Amino acid sequence: MKKYVSVLILLILTLTYGACGNKEIKGEVKIFIKNQENFTKEKDIEKYMDTISKEQEEYVAEKKSWIRDIKNNNIEDYTLTIEKLKILDVSKVYVKIKQSYRYKEEKYNIVYPLLLVKEKGRWKDGDLNFEEMNTTHFKIKYLKKSKKYAKRIEKVCETAYNNITNRYGESINDCTVIKLYEDEERLRQSVKLSFAWKFAGWYEYPESIKTTKYEEEETYRKILEHELMHKFTISKSNNNMPYWFTEGLAVYFANFQNESKEYSKKSTYLRTYKGLIMNIQEIEKANLEKMKDPKKIANYYDNAGMIVKFMVEQYGIQKVKEIVEILGEFSYKEGTGAEVDEQAIKRFHWILPKVIGINIEALNKEWEKYLYETE
Ligand SMILES: [Zn+2]
Repeated sequence: MKKYVSVLILLILTLTYGACGNKEIKGEVKIFIKNQENFTKEKDIEKYMDTISKEQEEYVAEKKSWIRDIKNNNIEDYTLTIEKLKILDVSKVYVKIKQSYRYKEEKYNIVYPLLLVKEKGRWKDGDLNFEEMNTTHFKIKYLKKSKKYAKRIEKVCETAYNNITNRYGESINDCTVIKLYEDEERLRQSVKLSFAWKFAGWYEYPESIKTTKYEEEETYRKILEHELMHKFTISKSNNNMPYWFTEGLAVYFANFQNESKEYSKKSTYLRTYKGLIMNIQEIEKANLEKMKDPKKIANYYDNAGMIVKFMVEQYGIQKVKEIVEILGEFSYKEGTGAEVDEQAIKRFHWILPKVIGINIEALNKEWEKYLYETE
């Protein structure tokens, strides 16, 4: 009987303590989410970044770019609502969050599964509730219900790595994080709320490679080759490449290599994009991220790829690689491709004569001659 009583008292104590502990955590989490919403609304980068876990450096970089984009664009009526809350343990909470905002008269809503972690006694945003899978050069992060897609990535990621290494003749050794999102809209909103169109893959230095669900392994191989080419070259150039040149290198060394020879022939290109083709000065001024017309978007990529193809054919692959290397001697400037573009273009112009012996105007003339006057 005595034993029974003490067990009962212990049970009551545990239940009471547990309930109180849970109530306290729930209250803390609600305040945390409200704060994160307010800091986002107030566009307070420092306070917002203080809500982010410092455990994963690529996540810190991604969120910094994300909040800067909100600061620079007119994102309105931003709200976060908790739809579900589950305490996993005293330092881990799962919350299903509904994020809403308005941009250019359109209203957007998504729901995402967030993991909150306690660091040094304070709750932090620890990214989505991802599972992990590892290969030699990659860490694949995915949601439990998307495991079959992560498996597809696992099968092809090392092939993509080897293909890019062989084609470009160089590689990087660090581990690349790949994040798999549930759909294109969630992928887009994880990158920039202001981004005008949905994409299949994304990479910004020094972030993770991001993608979404695809049925074919081959689709993943192609996406990863393109994004890996970004990672290799942007890190080698110390984040100093013009936007168009970054895309051009990825299109030339990834996309064109996965198409028939016919695809990147000048005659095919001229026929496909009649009326849209840009010279180097025009592509420098174009803003891919604000484009809406799918044909113009497709042209931007192929246009950039064709200019790089011309440079490789005219001056040799070594010279093109040298441009990337020498840009890497400039100091590092933090920022997304779009944010560093203006300075990167200036640096590109400055080093061009030193590497290929002609300036940007002459290069532009050569490109136009190559495209329109030769077979
Ligand atoms: Zn790209």
